[in-house]
Amino acid sequence: MTLDEIKSLVRTVADFPKEGILFRDITPILRDPVALRAVVDHLVNYCRDERVDVVVGIESRGFMFGVPLSLALGAGFVPVRKLGKLPSEVVQAEYALEYGTNTVEMHRDAIRPGDRVVIVDDLIATGGTAGAAVDLVEQLGGEIISLLFVIELAALQGRESLQGYAVHSLITY
Ligand code: AMP
Repeated sequence: MTLDEIKSLVRTVADFPKEGILFRDITPILRDPVALRAVVDHLVNYCRDERVDVVVGIESRGFMFGVPLSLALGAGFVPVRKLGKLPSEVVQAEYALEYGTNTVEMHRDAIRPGDRVVIVDDLIATGGTAGAAVDLVEQLGGEIISLLFVIELAALQGRESLQGYAVHSLITY
């Protein structure tokens, strides 16, 4: 399945979750077995020549693509979660929202120094969430190999905030 065919499955919902937002809904991709396989295959292609120890997925849609990617790469999977969800000792990173800040967490023992890490989410907008995930991995001594997204909202220039890192996306708006 081509990237254009995958893109045609993304459902755009206006004014969700609030007025003025064009929400890019990936659930039709998950529902389509051929598209789901194709997305994971495309993501795998970006790291085929790399040794990857850990795939880090960002809550919650990053989990849906991150776990199959980790299986395909023979890597482990680590979740980045919202504040207060993880039961054991955590590291934290804060990032700016339009109004206020948000905090994400990762288990302190999830990444070992020198681990080679790929970060995955469904979508990059401003890059704030992905930047926080980078912060968590680096606090624990992990090495970021690449950041992978199914969708990139180019106008929000998220990749500019991640300069120096390999950022890849399958579909751009
Ligand atoms: P950001 O931190 O601004 O890059 O936002 C990325 C996070 O917010 C990802 O976890 C996305 O799932 C979610 N997100 C932001 N904007 C949208 C959008 N227009 N449609 C769907 N998800 C979005």
